[in-house]
Amino acid sequence: MGRSLKHAIVIGASLGGLCASRVLSEFAERVTVLERDVLPEQPGNRTAVPQGRHVHLLMARGAQEFESLFPGLLDDMVAAGVPILENRPDCIHFGAAGHVLGTQHRLQDEFTAYVPSRPHLEWQIRRRALQIPNVTLVPAGVEEPVFDGDRVTGVRTADGDTLEADLVVDATGRGTRLPVWLQQWGFDRPREDTVDVGIGYATHQVRIPDGLIPEKVVVAGASREEPVGLGMLFYEDGTWGLTTFGVGKVPPPKDFEGMCTLADRILPEHVSGALRQGEPIGDVAFHKYPTSRWRRYDKLDRFPEGILPLGDAVASFNPTYGQGMTMTSLQAGHLRRALEAPDGDLAATFFRDTAKTTFPVWMMNAIGDFTLHGATGRMPWWYRPVGSLFDQFLGAAETDPVLAEWFLRRFSLLDSLYMVPSARLIGRTVAHNMRLWAAEQTPRNRRSRGTAA
Ligand SMILES: Cc1cc2nc3c(=O)[nH]c(=O)nc-3n(C[C@H](O)[C@H](O)[C@H](O)COP(=O)(O)OP(=O)(O)OC[C@H]3O[C@@H](n4cnc5c(N)ncnc54)[C@H](O)[C@@H]3O)c2cc1C
Repeated sequence: MGRSLKHAIVIGASLGGLCASRVLSEFAERVTVLERDVLPEQPGNRTAVPQGRHVHLLMARGAQEFESLFPGLLDDMVAAGVPILENRPDCIHFGAAGHVLGTQHRLQDEFTAYVPSRPHLEWQIRRRALQIPNVTLVPAGVEEPVFDGDRVTGVRTADGDTLEADLVVDATGRGTRLPVWLQQWGFDRPREDTVDVGIGYATHQVRIPDGLIPEKVVVAGASREEPVGLGMLFYEDGTWGLTTFGVGKVPPPKDFEGMCTLADRILPEHVSGALRQGEPIGDVAFHKYPTSRWRRYDKLDRFPEGILPLGDAVASFNPTYGQGMTMTSLQAGHLRRALEAPDGDLAATFFRDTAKTTFPVWMMNAIGDFTLHGATGRMPWWYRPVGSLFDQFLGAAETDPVLAEWFLRRFSLLDSLYMVPSARLIGRTVAHNMRLWAAEQTPRNRRSRGTAA
């Protein structure tokens, strides 16, 4: 049965807001989505979503979750030319923390991934959300929610109109003002867990002659030794998105030549060579992402009825790991489950479930950020040994497909979000690395290393 609402309002018509509107449409007579940015008729970049110009990896799990919210979405994307990764090893080049993972065999079908550009994905989802009969989009900015001293009863728009609602979802992204509003209404602000990742992005769109790069996705993450990384995605319009990024306040290359030089250093030769034959389109787009931020609403003792934050408004994750959209889609599922309970504390249920899925991903990111990517902030002592173990694991995964697949399952957020290998896998890692080490000690290999040096 679940809750039944008369009118729900969603602030923000980006991915979080659109997914929320889909869920709310099942429980409310009417859903109104308020968006202050101009929304293009066709897929296109938006001023208020500047990150959309940079490559966005859609994890296999995110694709599944979006599809379950909007059935038919994936087929429509493929029909519109969105590349699909059919799990052949030649579809993807994947490097993490300086290790290129050895997926030299076909992965299981559930790894199937899609490579829409961010504007295309958002447009497809928007189109579908706005086809839902009881969902309406209103082009208006929200000034603030209306709080009657007891609960939130609606919103006041920038034009001075007041709209009433039994539930308001704040999907305004990283810049949410909910913590300030809570304080104004006499509640505590949520604690903020942060990791100062100091990330800079620089992106060019590039046209590369057909047939030079068999892969559709090329990722080389930053590492301890190389604090800059690169991602290339082949888009539905036949161009490549080329994003370079620096971690720990190291700036990414500023122009196409610099990006090609980085590619020469960290990508396979056939890719960097093809890139040099490419033609850059338009200008370079830059973006700074100083801090990952998790607003701990789950830790608050009191929270007003009538409002919930969702998406980046709750947690924004290091974008170089490509998880934000998928984590947002998971929150939409939590919203549905919270609304399915006819009574009980909606906010507490939603925050508890969101914290459960956020925690493992947040923690693994933080371990990687602090120990491998030069992040600053408060770090528990045990992060360092776990980070080293993880580095060893990735090292072994370069040549052990079982370990590589285990990592990719977690990285794609496909099943358990905890990246804690079993004792068997740790044993396998140690044994594998020992074998490699022993092979390197054979006289012939020692001699050839000596020659190379
Ligand atoms: C550089 C970068 C790269 C990224 N790469 C990836 C990636 O590879 N993979 C991935 O999964 N994720 C990635 N992300 C994260 C992803 O972009 C976000 O997780 C996702 O956009 C979250 O969506 P959202 O709806 O919560 O917020 P947003 O997309 O930020 O949208 C907020 C919306 O609210 C609207 N709004 C704000 N205030 C108001 C108001 N007062 N009234 C009305 N409307 C308002 C805005 O106009 C906007 O439309 C990346 C992020 C960054 C910064």
